[in-house]
Amino acid sequence: MFSTTIAGSLPKPGWLAETQKLWPQWRAQGDELRQAKADATLLWLKAQEDAGLDVVTDGEQSRQHFVHGFLEQVEGIDFEHKVEMGIRADRYKAMVPQVVGALHLKGRVHAAEARLARAHTKKKLKFTMPGPMTIVDTVADRFYGDRVKLAFAFAELLNQEALALQADGVDIIQFDEPAFNVYMKDAADWGVQALERAVQGLTCTTAVHICYGYGIQANNDWKKTLGEEWRQYEQVFPALAASSIDQVSLECYHSHVPPDMMALLKGKDVMVGVIDVASDLVETPEEVADTIGRALQFVPRERLMPCTNCGMAPMDRDIALRKLEALARGAALARQRYGS
Ligand code: ZN
Repeated sequence: MFSTTIAGSLPKPGWLAETQKLWPQWRAQGDELRQAKADATLLWLKAQEDAGLDVVTDGEQSRQHFVHGFLEQVEGIDFEHKVEMGIRADRYKAMVPQVVGALHLKGRVHAAEARLARAHTKKKLKFTMPGPMTIVDTVADRFYGDRVKLAFAFAELLNQEALALQADGVDIIQFDEPAFNVYMKDAADWGVQALERAVQGLTCTTAVHICYGYGIQANNDWKKTLGEEWRQYEQVFPALAASSIDQVSLECYHSHVPPDMMALLKGKDVMVGVIDVASDLVETPEEVADTIGRALQFVPRERLMPCTNCGMAPMDRDIALRKLEALARGAALARQRYGS
C-alpha cells in the first residue's frame, strides 16, 4: 500500500552539469561525460533507496533535457540549427531543434543508463520518456506539416525504444505529457491515441505523467492565470480512463486541482503529487500523509501511489534529497493512519 515513486527527474550534481537550470551545459565531454553521467545515476539510485522509495528512476542524469535527450538519437532532426519557438501555447520561448526529414531512430536511446540502473538496484525501476504530443510541442516542424502525423511518427520511435527498455528489465515505462494540460481538446482527440501507439505491445506497467510543469518562473506565472480551480484534467482523464495506460501521475499538493478530478481515473493506479516541486519548503511527513488522506476520498488505497508533483531537475540538490525523505516518511505515516 502507498508504494512511493517520483515523477522522474532529479537535480544533476554540480560536477556533472550546471545546476538549477532546465537546459544545463555539461561539465565534461566524451568518455569523461559518459562516466560522470553513470556516476550520477548510481548516486541517485542509492539516494532514492536510502530515502526509502519503492520505485526508483535513473533521475534522468544522462539527458540534458527531458525532451531533447530523446531527440538526440533521432535521424531527421537538425540539432545544429536550433530556432527560437514559443512552447506550451507560447508560455515560454525555447531554442528547439527542427524536424527536417523522415524520422528514424539512429539506434538505442537510453540503453546505457537503463542497463546500468537495472544492474544496480533490486527495486522496481521506472523509466521516463517524453510523450508524443509533448515532443511535437517542443520541436519546430519543417517536414511533416501536420501535428497529428508528426506525433504518430514520434510515437512509433518511442515504442521501439520502450520495447527495448522492457527487454532491458525496466518494470514501468512512463511518458511525460505536460502538453495534455495545455491542449486539452487535442489531447482527448488524438494525444491519448498517440500515447497508445507508443505503448503498443508492452507487457510491463505503463504510465503517463501530466503536470503543470517544472517549478520555473514562466510556469509559476502561468499558474497564476489559471484561476481558483484548475480543471484541465477534466477533459483528458476520461480518455485516459478508457485507455490501456495503467498508471496516471498528477499534481495535487499546493495545486488548485480539485481533488475530485482523481475520481475520473477509475480503474487506474493514481500517482498522487504529494510533494511540491515549485517550493523549496520541505514538506513534513504529516503534510504528506494529510494529502494522501484527502486523495483517499477519491482513489482506492490499493491504487494510490504517493509521488512528486513533477520532476525535480531544476531544484537544489539537498532540498530534493530532503523531499525524497519526506515523501517516504509521509507514506509510512499514512500506512499507519489509514492501514486496515
Ligand atoms: Zn511534470
